[in-house]
Formats: sequence, C-alpha cells, structure tokens
Amino acid sequence: MKSNQIDQLPGSSDPFALARRMKTPVWVYDTDNNRIAYANEAACTIWQAGSEEELQARDLSIGMSSTVANRLIQFQADFIEYDSEFSEFWTIFPRGAPVTVKVLCTGFVMPDGRMAMLAEMIGAGQEEPETLRSIEALLHTDVMIALFSIDGLPLHLNPAARNAMPEGVIEFRELFCQLEDFLRMKADLEACNECQIVAKMNTSTGTKWIDLSVKGCLDAATGDSAVLVTGVDVSELKITRDKARFLASRDQLTGCYNRAFMQMEQDKITADCESGDSRHAVLFLDIDRFKLVNDSFGHEVGDTILQTFALRVQAQLQDSDVLARMGGDEFVVLIRDLKDEDTLEARIEAMRLELIKPVDCGSVQLSVTASIGVSIFESAADGDWSDTMKQADIALYHSKRSGRNCYTVFGTALGAEVLERRWLETEIKKAIKEEDFMLYFQPRLDSRRRQVVAVEALLRWNHPERGFIPPDKFIPVCEEMGVIDELGAFVFESACEQLGNWRSQGFHIDISVNVSPKQFQNPNFLAFFEDMAAKIDFPTSCLELEITETSMIGDDAEVSEKIRRINELGFRLALDDFGTGFSNLVHISKFPLNCIKMDKSFVQKLPASGPLLKLILALANQIGAITVAEGVETVDQFNWLDAYGCNQMQGFLFSQAVAGVDLPETCRVIESSLRRVA
Ligand code: C2E
Ligand code: CA
Ligand code: CA
Repeated sequence: MKSNQIDQLPGSSDPFALARRMKTPVWVYDTDNNRIAYANEAACTIWQAGSEEELQARDLSIGMSSTVANRLIQFQADFIEYDSEFSEFWTIFPRGAPVTVKVLCTGFVMPDGRMAMLAEMIGAGQEEPETLRSIEALLHTDVMIALFSIDGLPLHLNPAARNAMPEGVIEFRELFCQLEDFLRMKADLEACNECQIVAKMNTSTGTKWIDLSVKGCLDAATGDSAVLVTGVDVSELKITRDKARFLASRDQLTGCYNRAFMQMEQDKITADCESGDSRHAVLFLDIDRFKLVNDSFGHEVGDTILQTFALRVQAQLQDSDVLARMGGDEFVVLIRDLKDEDTLEARIEAMRLELIKPVDCGSVQLSVTASIGVSIFESAADGDWSDTMKQADIALYHSKRSGRNCYTVFGTALGAEVLERRWLETEIKKAIKEEDFMLYFQPRLDSRRRQVVAVEALLRWNHPERGFIPPDKFIPVCEEMGVIDELGAFVFESACEQLGNWRSQGFHIDISVNVSPKQFQNPNFLAFFEDMAAKIDFPTSCLELEITETSMIGDDAEVSEKIRRINELGFRLALDDFGTGFSNLVHISKFPLNCIKMDKSFVQKLPASGPLLKLILALANQIGAITVAEGVETVDQFNWLDAYGCNQMQGFLFSQAVAGVDLPETCRVIESSLRRVA
C-alpha cells in the first residue's frame, strides 16, 4: 500500500499541522464517517463554518445523493489500490447554497490507519452556470458516460461508468460478453460513425444488458479520434420484456413454441428469402387417436403424453429447427435450410421411432404413435407458407389414411389426389342436390331352394361426364364430408319405395341396405328407423340393415341398445364383410344378429380359407343366424358353399347389381338357369 501522506511537523502530534499553515483551502474528508476530519482556516471559510470543530460536527451524508456516496467510496478504493489523484469540479452546499470549486483529491491516511481523502481547492467556480450544470449532471447521472481512445483505451469515465467498470478490464472490447456485438458496433461505427445497440456487458456487478449509444468524436484534450460511449442499464427492462416475449411465444403446457411464434418465424424466413434461395421443411405431427387416450385415461395422462411427446421431438431437433404446438395434439416442426431430402427422411423416421416408445404416466405405461405430414418450402419456386402448411396438412391426412404411425412427404401425386378429392367433394354436393345417385340391386339366393330371396341395394352414381363412379370411391368421401346420413336416408327411402313398387306388381322379395358406421353412430340413427317403421305399409322384416364390425366397436351399452331397438322394430340385422377387419367372433355371439355375410375375399380364397369358413358357418348356426357368402364367382365356390351348408349366396356367378326395373326379369333368368344346373 502506498499513499500520499502529509508529513507531520516535527514535534507535532497533529497530522494536519502543515496544512493548517496553508492559505489554500485544504480539508480531509473521512469517507467512512461522512464527516470532515480536518480543515484549515481557508477551508472553514469556504465551508462557511465558524470553526474547525463546527465543521467537523456536520454530518455530510445528510442530503447526499447515492451517486456521490458511491463515488466517494470508489475514490477511497482507488486511493488504496492505485494511489490515484483526481481533479474535478464539485458543487458543495455549505449552508444549503451551492458553491462550485475545483478540487484536487488524493489519499490521506488517518492516524488510525484508515484511508481518507485530502481535498485541496485549486480553483473557484468561474465556469459558466451551464457548464457547471452539465459537469454536475455528468458527475451525478446514472448514465454511464465514457470516452475511449480509438484503440479502446479509456480516456475518461464518469463516476457511473467508473463504478460499473469490472476489475482488471482495460479495453472497451473486454466489456462485451459477445464478440459479435462488439464487431457489429465496430462495423456500424465504421459505416456511419455511430451505433445503437443493446448488448450483454461485463460490469463490476455481473453481466448486464446495457443500451449503448456509441459515437465517433474527437478527444477535446488531444484532438485525436475517440469514441464517446453512453450506456444505460436496461437489464430489468430486458428481462421483463424477454419474459413477456417468452410467455407470448410459448405453449404453457409443453414449453415449446406456439402458433404465433411459428408464424413469426415463417415471416422472418420470407423476409430473408429475398436475399437468396432457400429450402425449408415443415412437418405436421399428430398423435394418433389422442382423443381416445384423453377419454380413456383422463386429461392428466393426456397432458403427460403431450409433454413427453414435445420433449422427444425437441430432442431430435437441431439448434436451428423450431418446434411449435399448434393446439390439441398437433405439433409443427420447421427444419431450416434443408440440404438433402434423404437425410430429412432418415431424421423423420428416427423421430417416429422415438415417439412410439412407451410413456410412463404414473399409474399406466402407454405407447402412442404419431402420423406425420411433410412439405417443403422453396423460396426459388415462389414458396408460399400457407400453401406449404396446407400441403403438410394434406400429407398428414394421407398418413392417417394409410394406417397412421407413418410419414408422408407431399409430392405431385398427392397434389393430384387433393385436386381429385376437391373435385369429388364438389360433385358429390351437386349429385345429392340433383339426385344423380340411384340404387341397383344384386340378387341373393337361397342355396337349397335355388331361389332369389333377397337383394342388396347398392348405390350407383352415374356422373354426367365421368360415367359410373364406384361406391368405394365416393362413400368414404361422403362419410368424411358428413353427408353420409343424408345419402343413407335417401338409400333407405328409395329401397322402401322400390320394394313398394315390386310388391304392387306382385313381386315379393326382401331388401338389404348398407348402413355405414358413421350412420350407425349418429344419435339420430334410431329416430330415423322408428320414423320409417311407422311410414311403410309392408312388414319391417322385409328390410335388413347391413352393418360392419366397426359399428359394433365403442360403448357396448349404446351399441346393444341400438341393436335391441332395431330388432324390436322388426328390421333384420346383418353383419357385413365378416372376415375383413377384426373378424372378432365375439361380435357374432354378443349381439342378436339375423345374418352373417362372409366377405368376398374369404370366398375367393376357397378352398384354402375352407377351415375358417366352416368355423364361421358352425358358429352362425349356433346362434341361429343365417349365412350369406358374398362374391361367389365360380361353380366350384358355389358347390363348396352349398356342400357345407351356407344358407345364401350372392355374386357375379348369378348376377351383378341391376336396375330396379330389370330385377324381376333377372331373378327369373337366374332361377331358371339354376333349375337347369340342378
Ligand atoms: P359391400 O357391402 O360388400 O357390397 C358388395 C360389393 O361387392 C358390391 O360392390 C358388389 O357389386 C360387389 N360384388 C358382388 N358380387 C361380387 C362378385 O362376385 N365379385 C366381385 N369382385 N364383387 C362382387 P359395390 O357396389 O362396388 O359396392 C362397394 C361397397 O360400397 C359396398 O360393399 C358397400 O360397402 C359400399 N356401398 C354400396 N352401396 C352403399 C350404400 O348404399 N350405403 C353404404 N353405406 N355403403 C354402400
Ligand atoms: Ca353390403
Ligand atoms: Ca359386403
């Protein structure tokens, strides 16, 4: 430790003795106690004190601003550490009135060893009031003001800047936490001689966000180029703003980004695209049957699944990728600056495999799968984000329809599929309005009696331009469009009308009508058939509803009630397409069914499918349901089915579906040819 020290006069115990003889005002400020420890006469005059004792008694901390207090502490530290000296203009307030003095300050070691400050007045306040005020402002402000040489060395720091200066830092650049901020500032300075930047900076109290305003200027003392820097600590503001921004851009449940953020990212890319070509991938991810998870295990388990899902996707991403939850169980991933589609597909596949791993949900372990749709945004091809998003959605939809748990990359083929689909939707709406749909009837005959006993009503759509469009193509679309109930009602009413016509001609036959699962699940399902039962003037037992296994899955009590009521109304009930889907024999035994229709794929696999067919025939016999074989095309099939007691048959061997007017004649032809064969 080194310090200026007023030598004591020989033989004097007063450490201030020498100063007392001086005519210049000199005093010692005891920083620790905020009091004047010693003052000579001239100093007492300046301070307007009657005596040194009176001056010593004054508590100078009263009314002292915190900046001044901090600065005095800083001075004290500098005296101890560096033996510094400062000359500054000060405004002191001896009896409340300002007096401006220029003082030279140095360290002074008190008799008890503490460091104090020796102040020598070296000039009076002859400056203009404006100058004085600006000097005062500079000294007292919280704004950090510093002048650096062009090499980044400090030339002048105001007290706030000096306070903020971390220990050991010498150059301006060392204050920046991030080199890129410094470089940006430098580049701006070079380009336009000034820069405004909010940068993370090292300070004596840790890293802070500082709003910096930097300007090139000349050093007033030397005329050399210099840099004037003003800085305001905006950490609190920045943290609050960042937090608000974080909350506004994040999904609360999963912590990943939200829809709004994704939109902003896309806008940013669009803006960046103007400066060059780029390709980005958008992935739509959707948890398969998530509603079922929520309904079966509760929302807490659903939430855990969503959170785990988000974490797993995030773990598969690179820094530049963005994951957002768009709502519900829909997530979107943005993969920036795509290089290669092969690696993209490998990444998606890896992601898919990661997602199917079991999730620990406390009481249960669940495995879910995800369907993924992918689309590529290409700036060179005038990419449009809303199109890209739509395409990813279509690709996702395609994944769902292809059995879920897979990904689809949108391509031209899918584009054509979409166009075709849109065309179908428009045409279906038109066809319903213009009644372009009609029913054809396929005969179903009793094997033993060699007689047509029933017909299956099959929908036909004769499109004005495209001709016949098969039901397999338009019925699923009608289901998805939500018009299947309307169409189903039309089918049933037309079938009843046709039956009435035939009966009035003396042609008695039963009709079976297909009922789609969507229709069956509709809450108005029963009401419609109750209404119909009341309307028709022939026995309801002439009508059979063909439902598939899919209709029977779900709430057992509800399904049972529907089936019971349909039975009660007198309609017959057939299980259609048995042998496809689940082929759950339990369904056959659980519900009161009048008829089991064995799917054509079964029949066509004869004799290989023989053992299974025999089992179904036996089981149906057990529960008292009649058996119908569909898709009988050959005499061998006919013979096999006949031999093993299949009750009824339907198929091209006998006839395709024909128009209502042609049916009586078709039936006569079939029956006479069968009599010939028999
Ligand atoms: P489905 O209920 O299994 O109807 C039998 C289908 O098999 C009919 O096809 C019929 O023409 C065809 N078929 C009959 N015999 C043979 C054969 O020997 N060989 C072959 N290869 N096929 C044969 P279609 O008319 O094209 O109907 C297809 C499907 O569309 C139906 O399958 C049914 O699921 C649905 N569908 C038809 N009409 C309606 C309707 O009015 N409502 C509902 N919901 N679905 C309908
Ligand atoms: Ca059918
Ligand atoms: Ca069928």
